Amino acid sequence: MHSNVIVIGAGPAGMAAAAEAAKRGLSVTVLEKNAYPGRKLNITGKGRCNVTNAVTQISDLMDNIPRGGRFLYGAFSRCMPADIMDLFEGLGVPLKIERGNRVFPASDRAKDITDALVGFVKSSGAKILTDTRVKALLFENGAVCGVKTADGKTFSADAVIVATGGLSYPATGSTGDGYTFAKTAGHTVSELRPSLVGLETDAPLWRKAQGLTLKNAAVTVTRADTRREVYTDFGELLFTHFGVSGPVILSASAHVRDIGEAPYILSIDLKPALDDKKLDARILREIAEAPAKQPAGLLRKLLPASLVPVLFTLWGVPADLQANKITREQRQELVYLLKHLEAPLTGARPIDEAIVTSGGVNLKEIDPKTMQSKLCPGLYFAGEVLDADAYTGGFNLTIAFATGMAAGRNV
Ligand SMILES: Cc1cc2nc3c(=O)[nH]c(=O)nc-3n(C[C@H](O)[C@H](O)[C@H](O)COP(=O)(O)OP(=O)(O)OC[C@H]3O[C@@H](n4cnc5c(N)ncnc54)[C@H](O)[C@@H]3O)c2cc1C
Repeated sequence: MHSNVIVIGAGPAGMAAAAEAAKRGLSVTVLEKNAYPGRKLNITGKGRCNVTNAVTQISDLMDNIPRGGRFLYGAFSRCMPADIMDLFEGLGVPLKIERGNRVFPASDRAKDITDALVGFVKSSGAKILTDTRVKALLFENGAVCGVKTADGKTFSADAVIVATGGLSYPATGSTGDGYTFAKTAGHTVSELRPSLVGLETDAPLWRKAQGLTLKNAAVTVTRADTRREVYTDFGELLFTHFGVSGPVILSASAHVRDIGEAPYILSIDLKPALDDKKLDARILREIAEAPAKQPAGLLRKLLPASLVPVLFTLWGVPADLQANKITREQRQELVYLLKHLEAPLTGARPIDEAIVTSGGVNLKEIDPKTMQSKLCPGLYFAGEVLDADAYTGGFNLTIAFATGMAAGRNV
């Protein structure tokens, strides 16, 4: 079977590329190994799909893309978040904008985004073949000329777009096949690491708080050797069996790519709304109200129950110390602990638990305007397979759509 264009992978990047290419009158076939398209897309944003971020300036996009931002400039100049929003609203999916300019379908259903995208592909004239795993690229005279599938079929094509995603959440189909394809075409692939992932701590005591979510913790990550602050922000934090997770930690993880090699310290401010003086005044108020209270009782007034044994152990005061006998120094120590619950970070969770893969096909080897390989004529790359990744907030899908559209427009 011959097509002008074969797209490998029916994720957001592959489907955007296929629809754009087919709209130009090209015959396009998408080969997807799963039984249905957009399996990862369906679970994005906790099933709600944070489809893009409603920033209006390219510089705002760049601020949220620590790796590969400059390369993406060309793709973004033709596909900004407003274009992505127009696309989906035009496809009949009303959108809403939430905190931090995060854009979601008004229905809160990621599947509505997937269905719209599949409809877009089909109405453009492109075909999607599911249950079809590509095993290898085929080459002729140094150019790509098709693909071979796992069941031994050959699909010939004038061009091939690799949109196979990264390595994270492999059960969704993103098992890193695209990196292998890229290497067979002579590309280099930069080191693959997890990003937007939970972080492991060396703090056995914190396990007592496992399962606790803090809605608004202030988090700071510092390089232990240089004392350089690498990340600070507010947000939701979750204590887990391995350490910490939740949105603010996932964002922090993108700033500590060399974790495990370099030493980092995590510091959590459990009372971000109160400065030291106000917190001390609050503690004094609690003591005045119940002067005979013991430390655990006092802490219960200040903290969620599962953090009480953690702070009590760290504070180190006698269990039967009466509140009105707490010294000024002991109060100051408590203030410090509440504002600086600290632990060394020992590593990131494995890549299969990451929201996104950092690293990928070397951007120097790709034309940023067209997404075409500079090494192998007819070969294109789009989406997470490229060495570009972003923070949370809808930016990773924005990269997938923008690079997919660029490949589809230029193939
Ligand atoms: C839990 C979770 C939540 C997320 N939430 C958000 C969010 O809300 N907002 C956001 O911006 N980003 C989010 N992301 C990141 C975002 O989902 C990805 O960056 C994006 O899906 C990448 O798109 P892609 O098309 O490049 O790859 P993918 O979506 O991974 O699609 C690749 C497709 O290629 C197929 N494929 C792979 N190899 C082959 C092969 N050999 N043959 C045939 N088919 C193949 C796969 O089956 C898959 O369908 C989330 C990620 C996860 C894991």
